[in-house]
Amino acid sequence: MRARLAFVLPAIGLGLAFAFGGCTSRSTPEPANPTAEAVAVAPADDAKTKQAIFDLCRKMDESIAPFRWDLKTCADIPWRTDRNSEEGRPLIYAEFGEPTSANKTLILAMVHPDEITPLYLGFQLAQYFRAHESELKDAHVVVAPFVNPDGFFRKPRTRMNARGVDVNRNFDTPLWREKAVKEWNTKLGKNPRRFPGNAPNSEAETKFQVDLIERFKPAKILSIHAPLNVMDYDGPTSLTLDRFAKEYVHECYQLRNRIRAKMTGYFPGSLGNYSGVERGIPTVTLELPSANPKLAEAYWKKFQPGIHSMVDFKFENDDRKIVTNPPRRK
Ligand SMILES: [Zn+2]
Repeated sequence: MRARLAFVLPAIGLGLAFAFGGCTSRSTPEPANPTAEAVAVAPADDAKTKQAIFDLCRKMDESIAPFRWDLKTCADIPWRTDRNSEEGRPLIYAEFGEPTSANKTLILAMVHPDEITPLYLGFQLAQYFRAHESELKDAHVVVAPFVNPDGFFRKPRTRMNARGVDVNRNFDTPLWREKAVKEWNTKLGKNPRRFPGNAPNSEAETKFQVDLIERFKPAKILSIHAPLNVMDYDGPTSLTLDRFAKEYVHECYQLRNRIRAKMTGYFPGSLGNYSGVERGIPTVTLELPSANPKLAEAYWKKFQPGIHSMVDFKFENDDRKIVTNPPRRK
């Protein structure tokens, strides 16, 4: 069986690596609600779409108010949408930097909406790149911070989408038909949180991510999750973690200093499998150590420089020639 390496922090290392003081004393947050004017959409989009994005953002802001985050979510971001979720909510993304640059990074968050900390990082990244757009020299970033809104608005929030599908097991990978449902029935004991769907690429939220990959052809992908506390890498053999930007790699090494390498499964239908292994796009899954909303700001401070550095990082032309599967590791 093919498998990939994941680096897992033991629980004891977690506190050392990520204990930050002072994040509970907050200044009064700025009003986070966007104005209708601030919700910019593609020129062809109609007023109805604009209103739908506005409503989505307002409802999300209401939902996260108890966290008392100092976070502007949607305001001032040129959101676009081309596709709705299974329950009809707009699936939003925004572009920053130089659209003609080949150095494209796709950043995804909230694929699993019961993981709250990635929501903070996803929207902070959109705000950050908007504010620092002039620094994006020869770089183009596409941020989709709210991939699965339907699961987010369930009470309680769910990992799955509105149809009960784990969107990160629904990509159309070669082994999906052979293994996804079979393994769910056997190995996974029909765990509803891991249901891959009845067919590959059946879900609006999966198609949304596939659309973004097909349209923008990113040179690298970052998908932000929590709380497994691992950093997975999927990609061609020639592109190991040390090909990423120095600061990002440094971050990985810091983690690795406290970790033991551990196997995780090779999941049919996962994004890493679809984009990293099958398409040769270096794909990093950052699993934040906790889904505790109180830690979100600390994670932002911790990972923001590395993520910016990853966005700036340009692969040499030769780097992307080899697109073979990663070696089997034990
Ligand atoms: Zn997840």
